Amino acid sequence: MTFPATIEVPEPILDIARTLEKAGFEAWCVGGTLRDILLGHSNTDYDIATNATPDQVQRLFPRTVGIGIKYGTVGVLDRSRQLHEVTTFRRDVTTDGRHAVVAYGVELAEDLARRDFTINALAYHPLRREWRDPFDGAADLQRGVVRAVGDPGERFREDYLRILRALRFAARFDFQIEPGTWQAARTAASGLAQLSAERVRDEWYKGLRTARSIERLVSLWVDVGAAKVWLPELEREQAPSIAKTVPAGDRDPVLLTALLSTAPSTVLRRLKASNAEIDRVLGMERGPEKPDGNDERSVRRWLAAVGTSADDLMSLWRSRRGAIPPWSSAAQEIRRRHDPLTRGDLALNGTDIQALGVTGPRVGQILTELLERVLERPELNTREALLEIARELW
Ligand code: ATP
Ligand code: MG
Repeated sequence: MTFPATIEVPEPILDIARTLEKAGFEAWCVGGTLRDILLGHSNTDYDIATNATPDQVQRLFPRTVGIGIKYGTVGVLDRSRQLHEVTTFRRDVTTDGRHAVVAYGVELAEDLARRDFTINALAYHPLRREWRDPFDGAADLQRGVVRAVGDPGERFREDYLRILRALRFAARFDFQIEPGTWQAARTAASGLAQLSAERVRDEWYKGLRTARSIERLVSLWVDVGAAKVWLPELEREQAPSIAKTVPAGDRDPVLLTALLSTAPSTVLRRLKASNAEIDRVLGMERGPEKPDGNDERSVRRWLAAVGTSADDLMSLWRSRRGAIPPWSSAAQEIRRRHDPLTRGDLALNGTDIQALGVTGPRVGQILTELLERVLERPELNTREALLEIARELW
């Protein structure tokens, strides 16, 4: 692959580079953005690497945020308050498979050497328009290959997350994983257990969002041995049936995890997902997956029973069957009319029932009974009609 003579670097990035260079430092664009641009994908989220230390960066720019100081990253705010990451050239002093202690005072070449894959180890000088590609990343981009920088086994043992990153890039760009890198990844896969659940979850979600083919991503996780460690509930047989029509980027990783695994709530708990996400999949597990019939009465009962999970359950049904649920038009109609579906939607409340002389748990039972009636016949939802039924009931 020949490098384009020049690439269009946004003005705020050029500004930052000029400030650094004027102060006698180097400023290079690095990382995934260059990879994406060479592949023809637009990406304007440039990372800058420099030999200025984080302190020096903070002194050079009026507005900065110490977003990753421990790893040498300073956020520089431009005039329109956009944040750009400026990271000091670094090398890893010690690594333990999950974090690194880094040191500064190194050259660009060394900084590129600690990056994970050749396709991620490119640099471009935005002012001099020079490229650096010490590991032939451009050739691997052209061939469609994910290859570790240096000895793959060592690189995975330094940080096991790189295994998952390799799978993600392979699925996202439809690349092959270079055989040596793949073998080393399989050998190192048991080390994935050492990673924090949060980092694994982020990778899994990013993978689901960006994979060209979900099926490929799932196969890679299974074949490398990552699924065994983190997602034993993953069912690769489910993957092909997932509608291929959901475009990357638009995908919902929680829904996809539910589609792809038995016991998705167990999966999300293991991945330390948020309570909101766990509650969502619990709702999907609880179901029922569909109404007893497609008539409005059945659909109202179902909507009342599943509550906020209705849309998720319909999405699951649609993804599994590749067709729109036959009851979705009834559901739409019911929602458009605002048919009452919960006790809160009733035209009277507990106080009204108590005013009739009812006390204790019977109040709630009567409200539930009234909701039953109204689900059958929404037109009953007036104060007068409900009061009359309530009087009869008690
Ligand atoms: P994307 O942002 O599309 O997920 P990316 O390659 O930009 O992909 P980032 O996590 O933004 O990934 O990291 C930026 C760069 O930092 C990478 O391109 C790579 O050079 C380096 N990098 C990130 N994570 C690691 C890692 N675990 N080990 C080694 N280098 C890494
Ligand atoms: Mg990035």
